[in-house]
Amino acid sequence: MNVDLIMNELVKKNPGEVEYHQAVREVLESIEEVYNENPHFESAKIIERLVEPDRVMTFKVPWADDQGTIHVNRGFRIQFNNAIGPYKGGLRFHPSVNLSILKFLGFEQIFKNSLTSLPMGGAKGGSDFDPKGKSNSEIMRFCQSLMLELWNIIGPDTDVPAGDIGVGGREIGYLYGFYRKLARENTGILTGKGINWGGSLVRPEATGFGCVYFAKEMLATKGETFQGKKVAISGFGNVAWGAALKVSELGGKVVTISGPDGYIHDPEGISGEKIEFMLELRATNDDIVAPYALEFDSGQFIQGKRPWEVKVDIALPCATQNELNEEDAHHLIDNGCWCICEGANMPCTPEAVEAFQSKGILFAPGKAANAGGVATSGLEMAQNSMKINWSRKEVDDRLHHIMTSIHENCVEHGTNEEGYVDYVKGANIAGFLKVANSMVDQGLV
Ligand code: NDP
Repeated sequence: MNVDLIMNELVKKNPGEVEYHQAVREVLESIEEVYNENPHFESAKIIERLVEPDRVMTFKVPWADDQGTIHVNRGFRIQFNNAIGPYKGGLRFHPSVNLSILKFLGFEQIFKNSLTSLPMGGAKGGSDFDPKGKSNSEIMRFCQSLMLELWNIIGPDTDVPAGDIGVGGREIGYLYGFYRKLARENTGILTGKGINWGGSLVRPEATGFGCVYFAKEMLATKGETFQGKKVAISGFGNVAWGAALKVSELGGKVVTISGPDGYIHDPEGISGEKIEFMLELRATNDDIVAPYALEFDSGQFIQGKRPWEVKVDIALPCATQNELNEEDAHHLIDNGCWCICEGANMPCTPEAVEAFQSKGILFAPGKAANAGGVATSGLEMAQNSMKINWSRKEVDDRLHHIMTSIHENCVEHGTNEEGYVDYVKGANIAGFLKVANSMVDQGLV
């Protein structure tokens, strides 16, 4: 394989899709060696087949606001690869959503899902709809309009969407309710469902919990634990709150959370009632970060800045893609941060990742570290199929076990001669091999 040649072709075919190019290049560079050692991958043209989604669907989503004014958004579903199981991946509602972002997320999802060891293929979808400031009935009408297009192309053994940015329990509820009405059946066509109607315990916190379980394993490679460590977290959404909760449980101190307009620095730690307060604010759909500083004296709101300037031991970027750049990476390194574990998808730019790795700092990519969310979605699918509910402990134990085994896989495939674990390489190789071998086994389809 020649990475530059493949990338030139990809860029020509998919002009302007910068996030997608970034995600593919990272994977190709890490798997190049393994790929070239296995000539049957090349003869089956595995890379060319992997970088082209199975199908991309875009559709119109018209809806009316509370004043009766009509709006039109664009909806997407990208079914990327189903070699190892039904398509699986979240729906994102955010004004920035476009084909490039969803293709990057769908492509990453193939390898992430493979790493979980569960039978799930890769997909992603969503809309450029902005849920911020919308009423519940507006959100409901939008979700129903989207589902009217989606319901024909998803199914419990075909394609099972879930939440992502802007899509939480409320949106999944509206989407599921309308699916049930259209299809006249109750099946596990979405994950992240409410606990009373087919959801799994632990799913809401699973991505954040899983990220911290993964970081715990990384720290253990250095004989360390979370006890007494200062931790910077970005965002305060689905992923960040679960991470904050678990870090506190393990004895660490979360000192930052953030939003697009700035961050909170609370040297006394963000736990207990502070997390509860944030959760209540989140449910209101309003701005949530700035009010924290008004409620708690120990917290300061630093406007227009990112949390990476604070002196911490561990950083968990949990907000969005490319939110931690090279300059931020140098701030963290200069301040003595020695472990970075991505809760979000691709939050660190390639230059930031390079800066961490060149200093021998522990760095884990989201593909491995945030796989706990989709893994628990896989556990939700299993419970739905068997029509049973596992206890909180049972789900949490399975999640913990999955994260530990993903870590082991990364160490196995990513440890270099000096003993440094390149988690990016390890995750990409482990995720790729399973999918590529499955594609070879199943012939040209
Ligand atoms: P949410 O929408 O619940 O939360 C996102 C959080 O990040 C919000 O607090 C948001 O603030 C904040 N935010 C958004 N943009 C920025 C920015 N530019 N700078 C700082 N903060 C920002 O999303 P999730 O928690 O679900 O997802 C977060 C990340 O994790 C995404 O990359 C997602 O793909 C990934 N992920 C999510 C999974 C899940 O299970 N939910 C599973 C695996 C990965 P505000 O609300 O004020 O805009």
